[in-house]
Amino acid sequence: MDAAASYDPEAVKEKYLRERDRRLVPGRSDIRDLATDDHFARYRDDPFTPPTEREPVVEEVDAVVVGAGMAGLLAALQLRAAGLERVRIVDTAGGVGGTWYWNRYPGVMCDVESYIYLPMLEELDYVPKDRYASGEEIRLHLQAIAERYDLLDDALFHTGVTGAAWDDAAARWQVSTDRGDRLSSRYYVLAVGILNLMKLPAIPGMERFEGRSFHSARWDYDYTGGGPGEPMTRLADRSVAVIGTGASAIQCVPPLVAAAREVLVFQRTPSAIGVRGNAPTPPDFRDGLSPGWQRDRMDNFQAQMLGRRVDRDDTDDGWTHHYAAVQNPPRRKDMTIEEYLRGAEEVDFAIMEEHRDRVAEVVHDPAVAEALKPYYRYLCKRPCFHDEYLGAFNAPNIALVDCPAGIDEITERGPVVDGRQYEVDCIVYATGFEPEMTPLARRAGHEIVGRDGTTLRERWAEGASSLFGMMIHGFPNLFVMPGPAQQSVVTVNYTQLAVLGASFVGRTVAHLEAQGASAFDVEAAVEAEWTSGIVGAFVDGSRVLAACTPSRINNEGRPEDMNPRNGNYGRGLGDFFGYRDLLEGWLDAGDLDGLEVW
Ligand code: NAP
Repeated sequence: MDAAASYDPEAVKEKYLRERDRRLVPGRSDIRDLATDDHFARYRDDPFTPPTEREPVVEEVDAVVVGAGMAGLLAALQLRAAGLERVRIVDTAGGVGGTWYWNRYPGVMCDVESYIYLPMLEELDYVPKDRYASGEEIRLHLQAIAERYDLLDDALFHTGVTGAAWDDAAARWQVSTDRGDRLSSRYYVLAVGILNLMKLPAIPGMERFEGRSFHSARWDYDYTGGGPGEPMTRLADRSVAVIGTGASAIQCVPPLVAAAREVLVFQRTPSAIGVRGNAPTPPDFRDGLSPGWQRDRMDNFQAQMLGRRVDRDDTDDGWTHHYAAVQNPPRRKDMTIEEYLRGAEEVDFAIMEEHRDRVAEVVHDPAVAEALKPYYRYLCKRPCFHDEYLGAFNAPNIALVDCPAGIDEITERGPVVDGRQYEVDCIVYATGFEPEMTPLARRAGHEIVGRDGTTLRERWAEGASSLFGMMIHGFPNLFVMPGPAQQSVVTVNYTQLAVLGASFVGRTVAHLEAQGASAFDVEAAVEAEWTSGIVGAFVDGSRVLAACTPSRINNEGRPEDMNPRNGNYGRGLGDFFGYRDLLEGWLDAGDLDGLEVW
């Protein structure tokens, strides 16, 4: 029977709510704060590059860019293109890559097609090896970008910014670091990342565990053996617990099953695992590509994510099939709202049934298969794509520990669920990152002090306020790379937003330099207008989101707490194309409308 024919909306809703309620338990989003937690502070250490001693740097520069991830690198090279010479990138990591520096767990790869995810393919004349690139290939590509644009010599790695304050008299940012550096900079760019704070759940007793434990974003290859893309060699007699079943876990579980004596997967909520279909890039991929192809391909993907009709589907994957279909349910002029919503539910149900059927087809043990089936609407969690994860549950050395309400406690020997002790040698916390909505000041990890001594933390205490989500009144010469909860837009393919943000920063600085300006600030009234536009476009989706399984997308089951000021330009995820047109029009006009320049 096809999914639509078996669709009983009330039964489905009830089932989804029952499953939601099993997970809506007190304390489900409690974390151990790695910024302040003495016991787990070591989880943040860099296992990949040994730190080296160096003298503090005391100097004047043109720009400090915080973050050597994709956004920071793109911003830095655009600042160079705008004519700035001394551009210092600062990062706590031992090298470039941001999320791709830290996330080197086995099996890591991008979940958006590599031809649109890896930036600057045309400029670097590079074609990724596969449809979905490995983390290592992405990291090396970002490294190649940094080398090409000469961004490495001045970069300060293994260096954390401890404070940044605007000095009105000097018209400069005074930036200090944990290496004793004192940088005096004309411009300050925050590119601190959206997945930069590891989330470590607060599970009772976890500090007592006597085996090895680490977060997936600091993979301990010393312990597991092997390396990115190479089999792990030291796990053959070891039992490994993986906590979490999100995007990171589904990628690292299959290689763990191939290497370890035993793998126990602790699942709170099953992910929806769509078809991946990775494949080598066809040898003729370059044929017929004309200049501008990457932007066109990104646009084609983005149009589909926003539910726009396109005459061809360049990416042709789970995002464009499923995500696009859910974003764009059937709509006819004569439909009532109820008919439209019902149509949307039907599309969603059919797609989720396809995912549940896939589990049943692949996983042999019916009880395990049932536990792995996702019962919620498709957009309640970021969908996952993989072709080996589900099949890994047929291996003899894996067990699924289903724990919708979480893990009771962790003892010296391992996790306890429903009173049963699981003994393991190693625990991998594949528990993700603090949500993208985490306030910018927390993600930045240092105080940013503006014109009148006000910190960004104080300024945004009631929610964001900005112009274009990138410039803030009272914080002259500061740019913030666009991201979620910041009054810009959200894109499934983050790269496209980073490219746009970097180009905006570079071109704005080029205008300022052409005018011989020493500083700019956003006019208060203009910022207020932008912010009220964001608030006005906010659609209160809390009724629909409240029915979702708790996740980062519905504020862990508290969608009513979502702050309209932290919304996007345009409804929902935001209107990327409208936003880009607006920014490009503003830049083309060249009069820096809304900025006070001196
Ligand atoms: P995630 O999607 O947030 O998954 C975290 C997992 O840990 C979830 O399964 C979560 O369960 C579980 N968890 C959290 N606290 C727990 C607790 N106390 N007890 C038991 N389980 C707990 O994190 P992620 O997989 O690292 O991915 C984060 C984001 O990074 C993704 O949304 C994606 O945007 C990005 N990402 C992308 C890629 C890629 O492109 N390949 C790879 C990795 C990550 P619940 O679901 O119940 O909360």
